[in-house]
Amino acid sequence: MAVQIEPIGILYTCFKEKFGIPRQPNLVKKAPGTLVFYPEFAREEAVRELTGFSHVWLIFLFHKAGGSRSGAWSPMVRPPRLGGNKKVGVFASRSPFRPNPIGMSCVALDSVETTGQGPVLHLSGVDILDRTPILDIKPYLPYSDVIPNARDGFADGPPKPGLGVVFSGKAQAQVMEKEKKIPDLKAVITGMLKNDPRPAYTGGGDTGRIYGIRVFDTDVKWRVEDGQAVVISLEKA
Ligand code: SAH
Repeated sequence: MAVQIEPIGILYTCFKEKFGIPRQPNLVKKAPGTLVFYPEFAREEAVRELTGFSHVWLIFLFHKAGGSRSGAWSPMVRPPRLGGNKKVGVFASRSPFRPNPIGMSCVALDSVETTGQGPVLHLSGVDILDRTPILDIKPYLPYSDVIPNARDGFADGPPKPGLGVVFSGKAQAQVMEKEKKIPDLKAVITGMLKNDPRPAYTGGGDTGRIYGIRVFDTDVKWRVEDGQAVVISLEKA
């Protein structure tokens, strides 16, 4: 049975490319998202009473999970949590590479703005790429969705902070200047790097290698020194 599903809107976020995006929601609490509905769904009635909820589930399309093997999926994946060297079943993972590339993230609903083009949702704690198609929104229900003693298998609790994060003198001056326009920039960069976005454990083999992460309008240059992420500079992306 084929199903046809139409996105209801687009989520704009600070994450302009996949590298460095947190691997689950709320790991970077200040990471903002703005949900704009398509005209057909941009109805004030459709979000009535939503502001009573502090958090919502976003159901979305992993629209950039294709790559060169677009459409292909494999029954086993290598979760970053296991260092990228152990496989688990795709249905035991939250990997974007699944038969139906659908993601779900519970994020904070900060406000609902009323605009001439319908309601706009202001969200935070997102783990979602900029311009991701949104399929559905549902309120988070603590009485049912919180399961205090649930087992979490190989995930085994929240990720351990991977890296300390320091800003060079230059990067610190740049981030302070930019924060006049983007108040949470430093918190977002720090949160992204703390989770160690590097693909898999490098065994120290990447000493001196300069990485870039794109966030907001900025290309953040950083490298790892003595187990710390050192932010070198912020450049115009
Ligand atoms: N919380 C969701 C997503 C977990 S995977 C879920 O459990 O379903 C999170 C990763 O998905 C991010 O690190 C990012 O690399 C990737 N991602 C986010 N948005 C994406 C998109 N639109 N297309 C492809 N990959 C995306």
